[in-house]
Order: sequence, then structure tokens, then C-alpha cells
Amino acid sequence: MSEEAVILEMIDSFLEKDVKPFVQELERKDEYPHKIAEKMMELGLFGATIAPEYGGAGLSVKTYAKIIEKLSEVWISVAGLINTHLVTAAAIQNFGTEEQKKYWLPRMASGEIRAGIALTEPDGGTDLQAIRTRAVRDGDDYVVNGSKIWITNVIYGQILALLVKTDPEARPRHKGMSLLIAEKGEGMTVSKMEKLGYLGIDTCEIGYDNFRVPAKNLIGGVEGQGLKQILSGLELGRINVAARGVGLARAALNESVAYAQIRKAFGKPIVEHQAIAIKLADMATRVEASKHLVYAAAEAYEQGKKCDMEASMAKLYACEAAVTNSIEAMRVHAAYGYSKECNIERYYRDAPLLIIGEGTSELQRLLIARNLVERNPA
Ligand SMILES: Cc1cc2nc3c(=O)[nH]c(=O)nc-3n(C[C@H](O)[C@H](O)[C@H](O)COP(=O)(O)OP(=O)(O)OC[C@H]3O[C@@H](n4cnc5c(N)ncnc54)[C@H](O)[C@@H]3O)c2cc1C
Repeated sequence: MSEEAVILEMIDSFLEKDVKPFVQELERKDEYPHKIAEKMMELGLFGATIAPEYGGAGLSVKTYAKIIEKLSEVWISVAGLINTHLVTAAAIQNFGTEEQKKYWLPRMASGEIRAGIALTEPDGGTDLQAIRTRAVRDGDDYVVNGSKIWITNVIYGQILALLVKTDPEARPRHKGMSLLIAEKGEGMTVSKMEKLGYLGIDTCEIGYDNFRVPAKNLIGGVEGQGLKQILSGLELGRINVAARGVGLARAALNESVAYAQIRKAFGKPIVEHQAIAIKLADMATRVEASKHLVYAAAEAYEQGKKCDMEASMAKLYACEAAVTNSIEAMRVHAAYGYSKECNIERYYRDAPLLIIGEGTSELQRLLIARNLVERNPA
């Protein structure tokens, strides 16, 4: 058995024993899955893509994507627990000083420290360069003022990769952006947001009022590199979200295939009505196509190639597939799919997050088109 097969088998048994029996209840109460997170620490999942020299498992991104697919077939919130954490770790690993890597990565790999990414603001989501949160150097610290919105993994995490403006007048605008490793503390207010899906895991609004971050926590020790640093981490994040799309699309498919064979209408199982059979065929094809796009992006990432186009294609296609498959699964299940007893209702609420977070589908299309021109100049 390959190492990957052993890991995936371990994930299957974790999901059967430690996740599946608890999802409905945690979802209903919108309660943070503490026990699941502890088990994920034991399994080393918080260090999945962190290099072994810094205490991580150093898994290939393709194996990581397969793990995320499996987690998301059961509950996308579980995959969300490690996504922003590993995006932050990737930014530190790719751009941090040796001192920063040695200080943060081993404790992140064990899960003792969990991370989120604080990029989005009330006036800057897709257009990240429009952010207004300001960090001003004061002695050995930066003093941060501003606000962030829609930030996941804040309440039960310890640090955030915090995107700030260190020079708001800089042109082009990204030259004035920096990335800080910010530990939670005085001067920071956090309030949990109410949302449609992606429950269990917290998403928050944050206010910064003269919040201090040690200057030694500036990633790479150089100002003006923040956007580049976080975008490189987001390539991994997009592969994670795309793999979540594959998992959710597959869960919607599998439950539809099962239900269509037992539910009868007009004297026969509904799968024998062509209108339903055709839906299942299209759903399955979407899952397969998405999976291959995700693996291609993961392989390009692994080879250290520029893979923003591959990651965007995977994210665009797999996340749209998840939305379409969740709606199609609702049609196949009809009223039963609308019931809180049925997982389809959850997939239908969870899937739209995937076409928003880590860059909307519209943004992915823009990135793909930009790459097409760059790679094929006239
Ligand atoms: C549940 C949840 C969790 C999240 N977690 C995090 C997190 O942990 N950290 C974090 O930083 N953020 C997080 N986000 C925020 C998410 O990344 C943003 O919502 C996303 O980037 C889109 O930004 P926006 O919502 O401000 O949309 P907007 O930027 O306001 O976009 C609105 C619409 O305009 C379109 N649009 C914008 N610009 C263009 C353009 N140039 N061309 C064509 N169309 C365009 C968009 O595609 C979209 O359809 C989360 C969001 C959600 C819903």
C-alpha cells in the first residue's frame, strides 16, 4: 500500500468515527467542532503541507487535495479548519525569514497555534488593493487601525496573517501593502457573524484600535511585499477550495444516485425516468472533470511552477460544479432534499461559499483570461 493510500484510509476512518456522527448536531447548534479539531491535531492535519524540517508532514499538494475532498464529502467546515491555517503557513514558509519559520511553523504544524487570514474589509474584497487598514511603525512595533470583515478561524485561532497598508500613497497600490503575523490581543474587537452555511466554523468582523504587532512579525522583514506573499499562499487556498468543491459535488452525486434507485414514482424507481438519469450522468461528469483540474493544479503547484491559471481553472470549475450539483441533488430529492433531516439541504447552503471565498468565480475568470494573454502574446 502506498503512503498516500495509508493516509487516505486513516482519513476515512477518522470521518466515520469522529466526524459523521456529530455533523448534524454541530451544524444545528452552529457549534465549533472542538473534538474534531483535537483529533485533527493528533492526525497531524494542521501540518499537512508544512515542510518536515519545520515539523510538518510535508505531504504533496495532490495528497492534500485528496484529503480535502474526503473531508468535504462529509462536512466542508472541517476542511475550512485547516485551509486559512495552511495558507498562512505557506506565506511564512515561502517568504518568512529563517527566524520566523523556526518560531511559527513547528507550533502551527502541531496545531498548537492555529491561523486565519485577515484580508477582506468592508470596502475591499475582490479589490484587495483597496483595503484601508493602516499599520504605522512606532519603535519596535506596528500600530494597526482599521477593520476586517468575513474573517474565518478567529475565535479559536491564535494568529492571523493580517494584510495592511504600510504606505497608502504608494503607486501601484500593492507596493504599499504588507503582511503581518498578528497574535490576538488588546486593541482588537471580534464579533461573530451570522451566515447561511459553513456553520460550526466561526467567521468574524474585527476592529483594530491602536492594536500593536511587533515589527519582527512583518513577513520577510520587508514592507511592500504583502499582496505578493498572500497571493502565493492563496494558490494553495484555491486548490483547497476547489478540492472542497469536488468533495461537495461528489457527496451530492452519491446521495442522488442512491436515492434515485429507492424513490419510486409512476411505478418505478425515479432513476428509470430519463430526466433523472441524465441529471446523474451530468453530475458525475462534473465531478470527474473537476477532480482532474484540481489534480493538474496540485501537480503544477508541487513542481514549483507558476500555477495561478491552473488553480483558478480548478477553483472556477469545481466550485461551480458544487453549486450546480447541489441544486440538481435538490431536484432529484425534491421535498425530502428540502428537509433538515437530509444532507442535501446543507450542501445547498454550503456550496455558494465556494464561489465566493478565495476569490469569486468572476475573479477566477479574469485571472484565467489575463494569463491567456500573458502566455500567448500577439
Ligand atoms: C463564509 C465566508 C468566509 C470568508 N472567510 C474569509 C477569510 O477567512 N479571510 C478573508 O480575508 N476573507 C474571507 N471571506 C471574504 C471573501 O474572500 C470575499 O467575500 C470575496 O473575496 C469577495 O469579496 P466581496 O464579498 O467584498 O465581493 P465584492 O468584491 O464586493 O464583489 C461583488 C461582485 O462583484 C464582482 N466583481 C468585483 N470586481 C470585479 C471585476 N473587476 N470584474 C468582474 N466582476 C467583479 C464579484 O465577482 C462579485 O460578483 C469570506 C467570505 C465568506 C462568505
